[in-house]
Amino acid sequence: MDAVVWLEEVGKEDLATVGGKGASLGEMINIGVPVPGGFAVTAQAFRDFITRSGISKKLFESLEVDVNDQAQLLKAEADAKKLIMDAKVPKDIEKAIRSRYEELCKREGKEVFVAVRSSATAEDLPTASFAGQQETYLNMRGADNVFEAVRKCWASLYGARAIFYRVEQGFAHEKVNLSAIVQKMVDSEKSGVMFSSQPSTGEPLVVIEAAWGLGEAVVSGSVSPDNYVVDRVKKTVESKFIAAKEIMIIRDPKTLKTVTIKVPPKKKEAVVLTEDEILQLAKYAEILEKHYGIPQDIEWGVEKNKIYILQSRPITTIHKAKKPAAETAESGKVLVNGLGASPGMASGIVRIITSAKDLSKIQQGDIMVTKMTMPDMVPGMRRAGAIVTDEGGMACHAAIVSRELGCPAVVGTKKATSVLKDGMEVTVDGRKGIVFEGRMTVPEAAKPAAASGPLTMITKPITATEIKVNISEPDRASAAAATLADGVGLLRIEHMILGLGKTPNWYIKNEKTDEYIDELIKGIKTVADAFYPRPVWVRTLDAPTDEFRAMEGGEGEPIEHNPMLGWRGIRRDLTETAHFRLEVRAFKKLHEMGLDNVGIMLPMVQHVKELKAAKSIMIQEGLDLEKIDLGIMVETPGAALTIEDFIDEGLNFVSFGTNDLTQYTLAVDRNNENVAGLYTELHPAILKQIEYVVERCSEAGVKTSICGQAGSYPEMAKRLVEIGITSISANIDAVAVVRETVARAEKIMMLRALRDKN
Ligand code: PEP
Ligand code: MG
Repeated sequence: MDAVVWLEEVGKEDLATVGGKGASLGEMINIGVPVPGGFAVTAQAFRDFITRSGISKKLFESLEVDVNDQAQLLKAEADAKKLIMDAKVPKDIEKAIRSRYEELCKREGKEVFVAVRSSATAEDLPTASFAGQQETYLNMRGADNVFEAVRKCWASLYGARAIFYRVEQGFAHEKVNLSAIVQKMVDSEKSGVMFSSQPSTGEPLVVIEAAWGLGEAVVSGSVSPDNYVVDRVKKTVESKFIAAKEIMIIRDPKTLKTVTIKVPPKKKEAVVLTEDEILQLAKYAEILEKHYGIPQDIEWGVEKNKIYILQSRPITTIHKAKKPAAETAESGKVLVNGLGASPGMASGIVRIITSAKDLSKIQQGDIMVTKMTMPDMVPGMRRAGAIVTDEGGMACHAAIVSRELGCPAVVGTKKATSVLKDGMEVTVDGRKGIVFEGRMTVPEAAKPAAASGPLTMITKPITATEIKVNISEPDRASAAAATLADGVGLLRIEHMILGLGKTPNWYIKNEKTDEYIDELIKGIKTVADAFYPRPVWVRTLDAPTDEFRAMEGGEGEPIEHNPMLGWRGIRRDLTETAHFRLEVRAFKKLHEMGLDNVGIMLPMVQHVKELKAAKSIMIQEGLDLEKIDLGIMVETPGAALTIEDFIDEGLNFVSFGTNDLTQYTLAVDRNNENVAGLYTELHPAILKQIEYVVERCSEAGVKTSICGQAGSYPEMAKRLVEIGITSISANIDAVAVVRETVARAEKIMMLRALRDKN
């Protein structure tokens, strides 16, 4: 047997020669999957080295220790490793390794960086896996370094952990060999991961995530990647979602260390993969799934227009029912209760997250458990199978974003982060608000519609009442537009601003207001473009002081006794007019860019003088109020009960913010889990105010809408149609249901009217 073999010369039958890793790489090349090229220093070369160098006897004697005695184990490691590193490698073996590396460089046309990986194999049990026991050396270049790394891999066969493992598992040290795999490092210009089947439902859809630079950015979740879905049956790209990719990880050519840099502005919102690359990747995903017989989670990279498959392993998130189908979550043990904030059920592994720094813990489909989500946690929320929080009510950040992402969520459990433990398997029922112990059979109908899933064909009933959609994260714009909604009834900008990490005041203090305006424009434009010419009502800033305090520039935020009743919304913008003016300038620019579908909506208004003051600033800033849709949110009883004054002052629309209108009418803090049981938008006092406002507005020709969570409840939607509302704005996942409810309600009203007439 040769001391070295090219990877393409080996296959699955060569386990004894090149170990599991080498055999699998060879096999992939042979079935047409482009893995980075390289060679293996065979297990026989290693065995030859030990025998011919004369260290064999001494080596195996040094391993005869009590592995449960830490001191003895560490001494065995030190002795064995020293023997390997000091021994002379026979000239022919050394020469074979060096010259094969040089040949590899010739093949690649330059002195390549390689990874030197250990691939251990047992002589009498070649299928045994020693994965992760031995070392890997990355970024090696030059024959000397490569040769040295191979010797280190050999030595790593005698690491303490590996020795302990073999004794525990009953493997004789003498029968275990090591092949060193020397493989070209791919310096990806773009990279990512893909799933050969839809990871939560198992449908034949390849889901690809892609970003610029090396793959760590996507794998660790530090960047929001593009997302593409390919229908494996039709061989077509079903959906493309282009994310704003803020950062990228590259290898510093000098230090060889990976560094995180900002994505150049031009590439930030550019599509990462071409249509051909997407389809080609999907093809490889299909080949790999077929080859391994189960859906695969694959890492890939593209270097100089060539695709490389870097790793493939089974997806662990498609949960085939392990238990009898009759056992649904209803019969399981309840671990914690909370509010069912986003419907759907999912099983997975608990990951406790204390800050955005922990996000890399979350793999696709894991259950994210945290006190409360923050805007910088959204990349992790995208990967989560479900979200569970200690704090919050139906309108908290976790609830709003989960619904938008189509991810089941239970909020306000008070104790999830202490009761649930990292690594636990649980089932989350986001409709009932329960977390059950263990993995349970999730009924097909209860599975969440995957946020990244295909854009399903929508047969859209025509309704007289317009059905709109709410958006908080601009990168959900294409998913929102795919609902065929009649417009955006609420675009919240505070999630976008809180995501910047710096308060608006920081930008003002540091004289970077242009940067701030650009950020506003960028986020709003994404949505306005996706919906054009359908109207997009953008709400001016409405972030409570406690949310700003954690941000750079938020140090001086006042500590308020009750931030919900405090300095937020229009009342803050009218005292800190410098900030409000920046928002107005952004609106002005958007209109100048031709985005005349952008409307302005003012939050937390309670007296007509606030509308008057806001209008006067807008006029001072040169906004043409004749050409722009301007409205207020009706979310205080103050505004609802004096709506005539607003109509007299002049406005184009009102929109019910029932999340707040409910808390201010019923005196129930929407973020306080202790009073969550009292919180209901269907309270007659709320409905009375809505009815009153709609009547006054209808008489005056002012449009009426709802953008609070209640608009997504079919029961409320039906009542609103009967009351005569002009439009209903629902969450992305609720648009279809609300539309159907509204269509039915309208038909019933027409039938009733006809019958009454006859
Ligand atoms: C509301 O209050 O109903 C609303 C939509 O605004 P937010 O939830 O952002 O306060
Ligand atoms: Mg509100």
